[in-house]
Amino acid sequence: MNWISNYVRPKINSLFSRREVPENLWTKCDQCGTMLFHRELSENLNVCTNCDHHMQITPRARFEALFDNGTFTEVSVPQPVADPLQFRDQKRYPDRLRTAQRNTGEKEAMLVAEGEIGRTPIIAAAQDFSFMGGSMGMYVGNAIIAAATRAVETKRPLVLFSAAGGARMQEGILSLMQMPRTTVAVEMLREAGLPYIVVLTHPTTGGVTASYAMLGDIQISEPNALICFAGPRVIEQTIREKLPEGFQRAEYLLDHGMLDRVTHRKELRNELITVVRMLLGLPPAVQGDLPPPAEGPEKQKAETAEIAETLVTQDTTA
Ligand SMILES: [Zn+2]
Repeated sequence: MNWISNYVRPKINSLFSRREVPENLWTKCDQCGTMLFHRELSENLNVCTNCDHHMQITPRARFEALFDNGTFTEVSVPQPVADPLQFRDQKRYPDRLRTAQRNTGEKEAMLVAEGEIGRTPIIAAAQDFSFMGGSMGMYVGNAIIAAATRAVETKRPLVLFSAAGGARMQEGILSLMQMPRTTVAVEMLREAGLPYIVVLTHPTTGGVTASYAMLGDIQISEPNALICFAGPRVIEQTIREKLPEGFQRAEYLLDHGMLDRVTHRKELRNELITVVRMLLGLPPAVQGDLPPPAEGPEKQKAETAEIAETLVTQDTTA
């Protein structure tokens, strides 16, 4: 890799092959405003290299970083009835869905997968904020139920990454029904004695915080994530008071006993491995290749004798 292949080649290629080239090679950090090169940013798991701000990351990119060797199998999710309310605001709901599908390349706002982390089999589900604000509709409900069912079938723990603006208003009451549905799914895990770990990412709000995102056995959050039911702006307008610094952010919630951990995205994988193995009663994960054990007591004895001999000869020569 050199600067030519980094900057120039995609453009030349696109002249011939019309391959899709990312429109913006640079992303602006929402926190500090630094321009970040897309490749550097994705290598850093979408964390700003300047101020450590955790930006949105797609479920697929997250799973590639999470699972061993980046390999995982998708768990299929039953497709719900399309647009049962025939909802229309400025646009028809099916049109909005299609636009989101085209922009993200995903079917819906949640991705479920099975695979191994640190050689520990798990089921993982991640919500996609770039897909209609990660809103919880019938599909997301189905996805969580599919994830929990698969976890019970395979006796694996479930790790869920939440990110949502709340319920999907285009599905009205049907989206609100996902709150009890997903709560029952979490209960299924509890009855089977399987760990359920929630990783809250920025932002997790509304009906999602009022259901499955707050029911984990262990609640982990990424730094500075906004986690709330009603947002700070709404509260401020209602009570007409200035809210304290960092209100409803991960660190504030950790101080007030709502979370167990606040973990940097780069340390999250190792932390999840440790937590999952601890809850399953497994020995700690192997962190590197250890030398093979000696072949038996006799060989060990022979080796110590050999060492002693060399020490003695060293002594006499000196
Ligand atoms: Zn930044």
